[in-house]
Amino acid sequence: MDYDVVVAGVGVAGAFTLMHLSKNVNAVGIDRREKLGYPVECGEIIPSKKEMEILLPDLDDHSIFEIPEKFAVNKTERFVFVLPDGREIEVDFDMLVLNRDEMIQSVAENSGHELILGKRFDYSDGIVVDGERISSEVIVASDGANSVIRRRMNAGSFEISPAKQYVMEGFEGDEKAIYMYVGRKISAGGYAWIIPKGNGIANVGVGFRQEYAEKGDNIHIALDRFVRKWVHSSEMLKNATVKSKIGAVVPVDRPIRKTVFGKVIFTGDSASMVISHVGAGIPTSMVAGRIAGEVISEYLDGECSLDLYETLWRKAMLKPMENGYFIKRMWDEMAVRDERVVRYFRLVSKKDMSAILRSKLPMKVKIARFLMPFLNLIF
Ligand SMILES: Cc1cc2nc3c(=O)[nH]c(=O)nc-3n(C[C@H](O)[C@H](O)[C@H](O)COP(=O)(O)OP(=O)(O)OC[C@H]3O[C@@H](n4cnc5c(N)ncnc54)[C@H](O)[C@@H]3O)c2cc1C
Repeated sequence: MDYDVVVAGVGVAGAFTLMHLSKNVNAVGIDRREKLGYPVECGEIIPSKKEMEILLPDLDDHSIFEIPEKFAVNKTERFVFVLPDGREIEVDFDMLVLNRDEMIQSVAENSGHELILGKRFDYSDGIVVDGERISSEVIVASDGANSVIRRRMNAGSFEISPAKQYVMEGFEGDEKAIYMYVGRKISAGGYAWIIPKGNGIANVGVGFRQEYAEKGDNIHIALDRFVRKWVHSSEMLKNATVKSKIGAVVPVDRPIRKTVFGKVIFTGDSASMVISHVGAGIPTSMVAGRIAGEVISEYLDGECSLDLYETLWRKAMLKPMENGYFIKRMWDEMAVRDERVVRYFRLVSKKDMSAILRSKLPMKVKIARFLMPFLNLIF
């Protein structure tokens, strides 16, 4: 089997790569899932186009964020950030809640490129399926946070955080709000979320890093505590039932140093292309996929080198990713104790929180980072 391009892994990044490859390119997308994007291992939120213009100001064209109505099951208007002592910081912020699996399927199927589904690939100097090498001029490594291609090529490593999520029915809170909670007992080293999908359905989950947890605690206990006992969340879920469960990992780090290795390019989670302080990777994977598809098409026409991909995605997204990582590192120092989190957040206003959620660094945050070794002694 000979192709111009093999897109190895068809999640968000792979689907958007296929979509943006020229129609005359002979490409195939391969995925182990029979039904793309399913089961949904994601909270499924993405900022509105207006918010993406603020989040990624260096991106030339934000039209990719004009998400068709059919994929957006809910539109939320604010974040409610809840501290361990129950203090709430509410920030206006427009988000879409997606049917992410349907979006991935539709984008991949309508790309016009071939799909091979239900097949697991390996990598050995090329993509291998069922023991057979699939030759191609370019390989797109879009195989997610646990990328087998990255591991086989030794292309870099990064920190990942486990996450667990329930889809629940019977949520009784504000369907226009996304709730984010922090507290060592519910989301050690991360945050817990309630994301309303409309009609009482909600994605309810926790990001949980074991090294931040109390002895004997784990992600399963933490999620059930969040749902059934945590005084600040359980009231809204008291009549809700669990419809499905997933466990997955999300990168919480900076992108890998290099994303083009000869004819192999890395996109999305496989390259840790996330806004790490909020664990967001859908919009960045979409953008990376679009840039990958366009650059590869030009490359195959002899108009550029594949290295252009590296230049373009970094120009469009690196700064907000670095800012997110800066905040995440501060969070790592706070998250060791709930009392410390509460004390630090006394310094954080609604305006600061609004900037932080948009991956900006207010001067106050930069100063606090500098002073942290001293502040930690008091806090
Ligand atoms: C619980 C959770 C909640 C999240 N919530 C949000 C959120 O609300 N908003 C947000 O922006 N981000 C969120 N994220 C992060 C976001 O889901 C990812 O950053 C994004 O999906 C990355 O897309 P991707 O295409 O790079 O990887 P993936 O979506 O993981 O796609 C990789 C694909 O490769 C396939 N694959 C992997 N290995 C092989 C193999 N060997 N053979 C065949 N196929 C293979 C997989 O089946 C998969 O389809 C969340 C993550 C988690 C875990």
